[in-house]
Amino acid sequence: TSCTPLLPNSISTQYMTSSEYTFLSGHPNCAGLRQSPVDLDSFRGPFAEFPPITLTGYDTLSSSSWNLQNNGHSVVASLPTGMVLSGAGLNGRYHAVQFHFHWGSAAKPGSEHSLNKLQFPMELHIVHYSSRYGSMSNAVRYGDGIAVLGVFLQVGGILQPLNLYTLGQQIVIPPMPLAALLPDVHQRGRFARYQGSLTTPSCDEAVVWTVFLQPISISLSQMEAFRNVQATESSSFPQRSMMNNNRPVQPVFGRSILIASSAMTATPIFLPFCFLTLSVFPIVM
Ligand SMILES: [Zn+2]
Repeated sequence: TSCTPLLPNSISTQYMTSSEYTFLSGHPNCAGLRQSPVDLDSFRGPFAEFPPITLTGYDTLSSSSWNLQNNGHSVVASLPTGMVLSGAGLNGRYHAVQFHFHWGSAAKPGSEHSLNKLQFPMELHIVHYSSRYGSMSNAVRYGDGIAVLGVFLQVGGILQPLNLYTLGQQIVIPPMPLAALLPDVHQRGRFARYQGSLTTPSCDEAVVWTVFLQPISISLSQMEAFRNVQATESSSFPQRSMMNNNRPVQPVFGRSILIASSAMTATPIFLPFCFLTLSVFPIVM
């Protein structure tokens, strides 16, 4: 995917409102009626029952390290073929093609979706296209062409075996199964589901979103590896850390942002200090 800087002196990771997006970069989709991200309301729902999620190939140990390449607005890992998402009310099978992260700064949480109006420090997106449409570039033309799994990241224990480190413009993750980046298997039935879009231009309204409500944990030093990624390699730009590459929440416009009813039994409890620290985000199971 490509993402051109919006203004000469701004980095492409700095987001603007939908109307500014459209005006500045000619992506009319970005002002559409089913844009992402959105706020997820796990208290009010609406709630719906979903079949179990099926993840094929996600437990296979990768044969080499994951190299997350800096593409100017995130760090992206391309996935080998063979990882397939289905079930969970999705229409057929979806092939995983890449994953990437969104993050904030020390002062600002960087998840794209929010849960009950609160953001997490980071958010992971695993992007898949429908087997019906054959390729990513074709799938973006259909309302159910793409399925993205969203995972919130909170600061807590070290995410093992994610001993990631920055190497120039890359973040290197030693070999591990993709499932290591998902919530525990018993938590994967607790998710939000809605019809949305890509969160970067051209904001194609082709995404069926599945956002897990249970975050995974990452250490502060692991998170700092992301914050140390530089926004640009070009010498014409001052070196600047890539931070806050998250798009703000978008209007819902009458869509149903469904909460899996299996999430109802474990209502998240938020303590007041969460508003101050944002790095501690307890969800009581
Ligand atoms: Zn994303």
